Amino acid sequence: MDCDLIIANGTVLTMVPGAAPIPAGAVAVRGTDIVAVGPARDLIAAAPGARVIDAGGGLILPGFVNTHMHLAMSLMRGFADDLPLMTWLEKHIWPAERTLMTADTVALGTRLAAAESLKAGVTCICDMYFHAPRVIDTLTEIGLRGVVAESLIDHPTPSCPTPEVALTRQRELLERYADHPLCVPAVAPHSPYSVCAANLVKEAELADEFGAPFVTHLAETRWEVEKITAEKGMTPVAYLADLGVLSERTVAAHCVHVTPDDLDILAEFEVGVASNPVSNLKLGSGVAPVPQMVERGLKVGFGTDGAASNNTLDLLRDVQLAALVYKGVAADPTCMPARTIAELLTIGGARVLGLADKVGSLEPGKRADVVCIGVDSPHAVPVFEPYAHLVYAARAADVRHVVVDGRVLVRDGELETLDEAALLAEARQATNGLVERLKG
Ligand SMILES: [Zn+2]
Repeated sequence: MDCDLIIANGTVLTMVPGAAPIPAGAVAVRGTDIVAVGPARDLIAAAPGARVIDAGGGLILPGFVNTHMHLAMSLMRGFADDLPLMTWLEKHIWPAERTLMTADTVALGTRLAAAESLKAGVTCICDMYFHAPRVIDTLTEIGLRGVVAESLIDHPTPSCPTPEVALTRQRELLERYADHPLCVPAVAPHSPYSVCAANLVKEAELADEFGAPFVTHLAETRWEVEKITAEKGMTPVAYLADLGVLSERTVAAHCVHVTPDDLDILAEFEVGVASNPVSNLKLGSGVAPVPQMVERGLKVGFGTDGAASNNTLDLLRDVQLAALVYKGVAADPTCMPARTIAELLTIGGARVLGLADKVGSLEPGKRADVVCIGVDSPHAVPVFEPYAHLVYAARAADVRHVVVDGRVLVRDGELETLDEAALLAEARQATNGLVERLKG
């Protein structure tokens, strides 16, 4: 067998629907692609010259997909907490961003977020922020995969003084990165409450022209639903459907306050839902009806949202908490079993981002985005059922190796493409005295 890397010695969870775990399994990689998945003994025997990465008897599975983030907001971790969304956004986050988020600080925040994400097993992200070309260039250097969108809001943003400028920058982004091997460029109107109907339609037309993802926040809070219903006479989901902007390329973050009719609309247009359980809980927004979405066959994945509203990018923590919340809310321990949660964390997220043909499961022909989870800590012994272990016991600190596009980015828990100590020093320095500076 022609392959140059074998990730071996673990229980392989392929996340292929219906497939059983492969004990003592391996994933064989040639260049950027998976060429075989099966028993480790067979694959190693078939490719004696290949480098072998030892999963240490742990779990080998597809990298986690974080379907909604604002990477550079990692520099605003803990900047404003315990506030409702609109106060948080209008009084704290938006004014601070306009001062803080130059292209250089966005690049620094993106590196910090990428470091945290990789060490938490995340191999693919969806970013909606500003200075998107710097985000893509930064992710390319590091090796992290993603959908990366330039945001449009009706007021000035850190990168664009007007929505017209944002539309121009978005078009440039879509042209420049059209065939990028790791990152998919996208457009991101911020939300139905911060972008007018005319601009929402222009955004959809631009996304349609390039076949690009259309990323937005949708039905996040009760306040949003009341405002849009009062102004438009329909729910935020129905309003976007009425404008004709929803499609199978829509990535709708949150969808917390949705009616059964809204779920029908999301299903009809094949909209992908990026659910952010911790951010929704922390901002007091509520709990998205993810079990009902799954039941209706919607595309659903998980996201952390930005580190300013989470306050970590530890996606595993988010989904573990969500798995418990769903059961508690439903008063039903069979609601959202571990395997379903694990699917949403991987292949489900890939479907939301329109990348399921490339990533999200371990299959020959797909890109080699693989994470190895160690099981050699007291909290990780024994492992009777691997999905339950992942969803109820594993921790981000158990992430041992991370491979993206066939490239090893984390080895034995250490970042291979970033100097972590230097990065942390730079991030501390950039944010030192930030609160005082912005208030002064
Ligand atoms: Zn968000």
